[in-house]
Amino acid sequence: MTDTSGQWEQRWHPLLREWVVFSAHRQNRPWTGETVLYESEQLPAHDAGCYLCPGNSRVSGASNPQYSGVYVFDNDRPSIGLDAPVNLVAAPGIYQNMPATGLTRVLCYSPVHNVTMSELSTEQILQVVQTWQQQTRELSVMPEVRSVMIFENKGEICGMSNPHPHGQIYATNFIYKTTESYIQAADEHHEKTGNILFQDILQAEHDELPERQRIVVQNDTMVAFIPYFARFSYELYIAPRRTVPHLSALTKAECDDLASILKTVLVRMDNLWGVPFPYLMMLHQAPVDGKDYPLFHTHLAFYPPMRTPELRKYVAAHEIGGGNFLADTMPEAKAAELRACSS
Ligand SMILES: [Zn+2]
Repeated sequence: MTDTSGQWEQRWHPLLREWVVFSAHRQNRPWTGETVLYESEQLPAHDAGCYLCPGNSRVSGASNPQYSGVYVFDNDRPSIGLDAPVNLVAAPGIYQNMPATGLTRVLCYSPVHNVTMSELSTEQILQVVQTWQQQTRELSVMPEVRSVMIFENKGEICGMSNPHPHGQIYATNFIYKTTESYIQAADEHHEKTGNILFQDILQAEHDELPERQRIVVQNDTMVAFIPYFARFSYELYIAPRRTVPHLSALTKAECDDLASILKTVLVRMDNLWGVPFPYLMMLHQAPVDGKDYPLFHTHLAFYPPMRTPELRKYVAAHEIGGGNFLADTMPEAKAAELRACSS
């Protein structure tokens, strides 16, 4: 029987509770739009004009210390602030508004300007993971903070403004819509089945037929996989085997395993096309609003926009207007590609 998967197939996204439309036979359709060029420019190890390099001054007038490991500071141009105006102009009619309160921080992964996380040692990546834990703990006790979002936009195509290896931390007085959807989906699944949704996702990935396997790499406590319902070609999740709502709850052994699996995954991504692989990386965590979220399963998600070295996935009318993703490739094939890459 011919394998017809990916030809007008819909797959349910259990976390977002929406259908993803797979149309993988479109991948090779003629393309006359924009293609992407990768900068091959050699960057220096220290850039005097970079506001993230050690010793340099920033727009606020503050100077970075001569840091050697990771370095965290409050963003000089935050998109949300602790001193957000509280006396807003009232919204008309049925509309609502509220102050966007919170704080945003920058996390430099390394003092070296011209590396990416994939080029750091596992020990250095562990420092980043432990900083994510520590920031989550520190920010979650602030009364105005209800959510700690940690992310990285890597590559110019993902909106990265500075090549210095860094990520961002947003501590906000609101809970992100994706987090709310994940909570509702987990609650509903638990009511229906008595199970933890993300554990059932891990089980389904584990139980998949060998020839359809989507697990890219795993170790004692962590699993990296492209889920059955992936919306982007190389959408990859790194999840602990144990359900914990926040990264700060991981043990040292789990952090070691996370650093190690991150290193493997990032190197494979770079080796896929022999270019620094662009991605949006997001750490999904439960809110820090004082409630318990025993069903929330923290995980890292990568949303790489490229489907080939030259072609990006456009979030277009289907996604923005229609609200459902159209996927151009099948997760099984993309996971096999990453498994075949050298780590
Ligand atoms: Zn720099």
